[in-house]
Formats: sequence, C-alpha cells, structure tokens
Amino acid sequence: MKKALRQYLGAGIWVALGIVVAAQPVFATTPLSGAACLAQAYPDLGEPLDYGDELQTQMAQTYPLEFRVPGPQEDPGRVRSEPFFKALYGATREQVQAQLVAVPWPPSGGSLLFSSRHGAAAALQRVGAALAPQPAAAYVRHSAGTFHWRNVAGTPRKSLHAFGVAVDFALPRQLGRYWQWSGCKEDKHCPYPEAVFRDAQMQDVVRAFEQEGFIWGGKWAHYDTLHFEYRPELVGPRCKNVQ
Ligand SMILES: [Zn+2]
Repeated sequence: MKKALRQYLGAGIWVALGIVVAAQPVFATTPLSGAACLAQAYPDLGEPLDYGDELQTQMAQTYPLEFRVPGPQEDPGRVRSEPFFKALYGATREQVQAQLVAVPWPPSGGSLLFSSRHGAAAALQRVGAALAPQPAAAYVRHSAGTFHWRNVAGTPRKSLHAFGVAVDFALPRQLGRYWQWSGCKEDKHCPYPEAVFRDAQMQDVVRAFEQEGFIWGGKWAHYDTLHFEYRPELVGPRCKNVQ
C-alpha cells in the first residue's frame, strides 16, 4: 500500500492548502477548494497529494445538503478515483479486510464491519449513537451489507463497499429504491422516486449520516436510496456546496 500511495501522491496539494490557510483571516467563511477539502478530510494520508485530473473530476459535482430531485447526470460523489481509494483503504481484498473492525450499531443491537482507516468506523459509530433514540432508528435496523469486494453492478469500477466504507440498509415502506431495479439505463433519464425524500424519518437518517461525513445515494440521478458511504471530502466543514 505504501508503494501505491507514493506512486499516486505527488506534491500539488500543499500549495493550494497554503493559499487557503494564508487567506483565512480575511475570508474565514470562504468554501475550501476541492484539493483543500481532500486534505482536510484525510489529514493522516501522510504524504502530499497530487490533485490530478481524476481527483478533480471526483470533486467536480457539488453534493447538495437539501432534498431535491437531482438533475440529469447529477451524481455527486458517484464518480470516484479508484487509485485514491485503494491508497486510502487498501488495494486488495486482504488489505481492506485487515483494516475492518466491528462497529457497535445500537439501532440493531448488533454491529457492522467497517474500515477503521481515516475515521470511517468512528464516524459510523457516532451515526448509530445519534439515531438510536430517534424513531428513525427503525429505518436502519436491518443492514443489507457493508464490506464486499466487488464492482459497481454492470461496471468495471470498484464499489466503495469494496473498501469497507459503505453500508446499505433494508429500508421499510418501499423506500429502498435503486435505479437499475426500475429498468433505467445509465445514459437515459430515470424518473426519480420523490416519495423517498419526502419521508420525514428518511430525512432524519440522511442528515445523521451527512453530519458525520457520509453521502447518501438518494441524491444521485442514478439513485441508490439504500446506500450510504463515507466521503468526508464532500460534506466536511466548509466543503459543503463547494463549486
Ligand atoms: Zn451500497
């Protein structure tokens, strides 16, 4: 992994970060750049980061905190630089598995296997603790899977489940909706199931996850409402709604 990390990471990010830090006294509420959001989200990466084309694409779409129908091809966070996540969480099934820990999950009384790297497991634990006393806890009682070394269905790209930083839930009330189950095609407009985000308790679940650095697949045009993944670079402090 160290080798992969060195191959992937270069020298660009600290320049961008230095500019932001220097500007802080004057522009304290200015949103951070994509490069600075990545550095803030993963401070223990250990080496400077090359903010190349792949990472720029990954950060190009804004993740919205409001609930609205995504525009065509609006899939914030769904485009991912695979080498980046391999550097973060492990490049092979075995390397990822070695970092997994059982996170207590009070909504079910059980636990969820999640990566301990980069604060992911700790963040998931805080989500469970926050949801446990709420009625919305019933929505996340039944996990439909966390770690699974696999590609995104129908693509050659690794799912974030492969890195142990994504979780699906068997949602009640027909709230679990996935674009491919609706017979939609990747490059054609897919009608969005708006009833999902009008559900108040579903909104509570989503907010609890976003608060801890997770994104929800329900905010994608290629919706996957069961799916939450740890992406603090998209929802971290001062990285929300960065253009
Ligand atoms: Zn999933």
